[in-house]
Amino acid sequence: MVDRLLLGASDSTDPFGSIKNFFHSSTWHFAVLMFWFFLVVVWLACAYWVYKDARRRIDDRVVIIVAVLTGLVFGPFGLFVYAILRPPEYLDDTRERELELRMLEQRLDGDARCPFCKTAVKDDYLVCPHCMRRLREVCPSCRRPVEPDWRICPYCEKQIPQTQAPTQTFGLEVR
Ligand SMILES: [Zn+2]
Ligand SMILES: [Zn+2]
Repeated sequence: MVDRLLLGASDSTDPFGSIKNFFHSSTWHFAVLMFWFFLVVVWLACAYWVYKDARRRIDDRVVIIVAVLTGLVFGPFGLFVYAILRPPEYLDDTRERELELRMLEQRLDGDARCPFCKTAVKDDYLVCPHCMRRLREVCPSCRRPVEPDWRICPYCEKQIPQTQAPTQTFGLEVR
């Protein structure tokens, strides 16, 4: 009874009583709790996003860890800094480009080599420019280079006579 009176008295005398009550209410506590929860979620999301992105762009484990820590400590600000500093290209793209470059080099360098002296030769060379041995014949009809094991010209459909068969030309090697 006395408590009730005191409470009523304080309510009527203190104009901020209702506000104070609000800040002590469970609604306010819940709001504060939600705010912190939201903040933690945002922070974690930033770190996770940095981790996911860094893994696709950075090969070095230590750098990835540093990037994730930046995201974890500074949240959205860390993410912003990371977005500026991150490598512009995905690792997959880099690897793909390197592979393409290597394949191009290989093509120029050639799996195609002179079987006698191993000099790099192109697909349409008739003789090796180094050892001067015959690499392939020309089609008697269209004069295009034909491979040693071809029995018909793929360009003009002319049958390649067996007398001109490459085994005989490669016989030069024995000489
Ligand atoms: Zn050669
Ligand atoms: Zn031909």
